[in-house]
Amino acid sequence: MNWIKKTLRFGEKIKTIIKARATKAEIANSDWTSCCKGPILKKDLEENLFCCPSCNKHHRINPRQRFDIIFGKNNYEVLKTPIPQDDPLNWNDAKPYKDRLKAARKKTGMDCGMMVVNTNILNLKITAIASDFDFIGGSVGSSEGEAILYAAQHAIENQQPLVLFSCGGGMRMMESLISLSQMTRTTLAINELKKNNLPYIVVLTDPTAGGITASYAMLGDLHMAEPGSLIAFAGAAVIKNTIREELPSGFQRSEYVQKSGFVDLIVERKDLREKIGSLLSILLKKNSVIKTVENETTESNTALTKAS
Ligand SMILES: [Zn+2]
Repeated sequence: MNWIKKTLRFGEKIKTIIKARATKAEIANSDWTSCCKGPILKKDLEENLFCCPSCNKHHRINPRQRFDIIFGKNNYEVLKTPIPQDDPLNWNDAKPYKDRLKAARKKTGMDCGMMVVNTNILNLKITAIASDFDFIGGSVGSSEGEAILYAAQHAIENQQPLVLFSCGGGMRMMESLISLSQMTRTTLAINELKKNNLPYIVVLTDPTAGGITASYAMLGDLHMAEPGSLIAFAGAAVIKNTIREELPSGFQRSEYVQKSGFVDLIVERKDLREKIGSLLSILLKKNSVIKTVENETTESNTALTKAS
């Protein structure tokens, strides 16, 4: 019966190892994180723009980290967006929604899951907006909808382009229909931008899914994506169970989605600033050329009138 004792002892050892694993909070407070080759210092990852030096995985970053990288530290002004009533439906599931909001605000230091900034890129004035995945999975509720509307309005008032960095699992179901209505509201806001002939560039980051993909994240004049980002509407498991077939490798990742035409360009994080800036300058120059022609025509008309 020695083997039974040995097996039991081995089981105890495994239990101790499992118990010794770090908690989420411990990982968050540690100097270390992990990627393909095991532990990596957060500082080293940050120095490489939060991209793994070995496998080039683009790790998730929050709006401030993103804006620091793309626009430069202290080179953007954070705009205060409207926050509608918290928890309009008095929602309660495993935890009250009010508590989830409170925890998300404490964790991210943000009032809602989106940050809107007034900034510039390669000397072009722009409005930019980004989501924080740590704020209830980057989901979109009424406050986030308001943030997108505010950003679109700001871009129109200042006649400048809007650049949106999408991230999140979809609409926030704790706000039920109110969150779903943000798909229509944000679509209408983007249409207003287009009526004003203002460029709207979307950068799809990991993950962009659900109602986000079904509304404002797919309405850009140009769609860029960071490498390897999950870009989907329904989850892979749901699709697999519905069609009862094995899904191809790389399914719903940037490179796969580009082949079906939803993504125009895959751009590494280190190149985003240059790429967004140069494409915007092309788009805006086109506008200024049209304006110049219009002005010349008006001037020559005035000259003709004077002559007559
Ligand atoms: Zn890696």
